[in-house]
Amino acid sequence: MVEKNKIILARDGVFPITRNAEGEPVSSLPNSGLCCPGTIQGEGKLNGIPSLFIRLAGCNLHCIWTNPDGSLSPCDTAYASYHIRQARSCTLEEICRLIGYNTGVIDHLVITGGEPLLQHKELTELCIRLKKIKKFHITLETNATLYAEELATQIDFFSLSPKLAGSIPPPPQNILHDKQRLSPETIQKFISHTRTHNKDFQLKFVYSQETDITEIKTLLSCLTDWKKEDVLLMPQGGNSRDVEANIQQTLRHCIENGWRYCDRLHLALFGSKEGV
Ligand code: SF4
Repeated sequence: MVEKNKIILARDGVFPITRNAEGEPVSSLPNSGLCCPGTIQGEGKLNGIPSLFIRLAGCNLHCIWTNPDGSLSPCDTAYASYHIRQARSCTLEEICRLIGYNTGVIDHLVITGGEPLLQHKELTELCIRLKKIKKFHITLETNATLYAEELATQIDFFSLSPKLAGSIPPPPQNILHDKQRLSPETIQKFISHTRTHNKDFQLKFVYSQETDITEIKTLLSCLTDWKKEDVLLMPQGGNSRDVEANIQQTLRHCIENGWRYCDRLHLALFGSKEGV
């Protein structure tokens, strides 16, 4: 249950930071290992841009991928989505102060999760307040199963990551996950919003199996107002070994379909660390 004017943040919350909400230096270096706040966006069209992240707790999906060898790859932020640990309720004032003390020249904020739309009312208010601090460029990372026009109005870039059949977990979570994971109507609302408000979006798919390609093409055939360059394919994997196993096929499908290859730059730079 979300309290008014509060947001439930995952344990990495606002990251990476070097000052707390009172503006005092925090005792240890951020997980990036750098002595400055901020990191870079590691995936997609805005790859490499200095950014500060806000991670919200809770998700309406339960993604678990099955690797070719039969092993399972859970959501790479399971601590923020369905095995929530150390989440905390934070006031909007506290989040604004944390961001104010840690942005420096950074003007890109990335709101991620979990699924941020689960807290869309409070998030809308947070974005309004943040834009009063500075004209931030705000990215929303979402699984695109939920939509709120009020929140969309505050967002500059939408990173839509619809979940394919490869993400269906073993029972008992499989039925609900499969029922909720894809909503072409919701995805279209995001796309149409960007087209009428002169904004941008990306459709980012995780590639884990051959049948993903048919599923992506079927989904794209239900959508309008997108271009090939808006479609990104990213190799599945929460660590370098699993990603490596999917790179060749991901590359081939990108080239054959004119889609954009999506790297996981964070894994190369920071490994599987949280809060980077
Ligand atoms: S939708 Fe995203 S955050 Fe939610 S479980 Fe799936 S991968 Fe994790």
